[in-house]
Amino acid sequence: MNYHVLTLFPEMILAGMNTSIIGRAIEKGLISLEAVNIRDYAEEKRKGRVDDYPYGGGAGMVMQAEPVYAAYAALEKKIGKKPRVIYLNPQGQVFRQPLAEELAQEEDLVFLCGHYEGIDERVLEEIVTDHVSVGDYVLTGGELPAMVMMDAISRLVPGVLNNEESAQFESFQDNLLEYPQYSRPEEWRGKKVPAVLLSGHHGNVEQWRREQSLRRTFERRPDLLERANLSVKDRKYLENLLAFEIET
Ligand code: SAM
Repeated sequence: MNYHVLTLFPEMILAGMNTSIIGRAIEKGLISLEAVNIRDYAEEKRKGRVDDYPYGGGAGMVMQAEPVYAAYAALEKKIGKKPRVIYLNPQGQVFRQPLAEELAQEEDLVFLCGHYEGIDERVLEEIVTDHVSVGDYVLTGGELPAMVMMDAISRLVPGVLNNEESAQFESFQDNLLEYPQYSRPEEWRGKKVPAVLLSGHHGNVEQWRREQSLRRTFERRPDLLERANLSVKDRKYLENLLAFEIET
């Protein structure tokens, strides 16, 4: 997986991505990351400035089309084909796990980070393939959203997670939240680990985890259940939960 980030703040991207699991994946060569400074593509006479006032008036500044286009064009030439270009945009589709899974199949991904009031619409029309938001709130720039996306995608690139960190069952897989997790000691401040997890009975552990997962999703994110792949047994369990809730 090769990430290319078009940004006004490359140092932010490099500082954020070069640690822990992602840093190790970069070191191992499973992932590559380059942060391209859009300012390097500013017109000579504007001395590194890449923003200007919005036509029609209004507050703030807008990133100009040409430096963004020139930075992108140099990248496209280097990659040798038209890559998928993701503009981090509060107006885009909200980033969810299925999109992370889809993007993890790509060889190259370009992330375009806006700043100020955003980027001149004309260059977005020209180069962007996907508009993606990290949630319904407005941030100062696209750098944090790009890092959020790269982190989520990288975990799905083969070899990035080792066995202990494996992504076998995680929240949002099958539209269910993950069951609660416990580690040593068996008792902490009077709170005991659920007995079934100490029983060594694989089948019972699996059933308990499935039920916990259904219960959590029902309590915390019921909206996900509509899209979940549920067995007859799962549905029965949820019906009992609902009946109990109505009763109490
Ligand atoms: N004027 C824009 C609007 O109202 O839609 C917001 C611009 S925002 C202050 C500056 C930049 O931050 C955007 O161009 C985008 O790249 C990034 N950004 C802000 N919030 C975001 C979000 N929720 N998801 C993804 N990117 C975001």
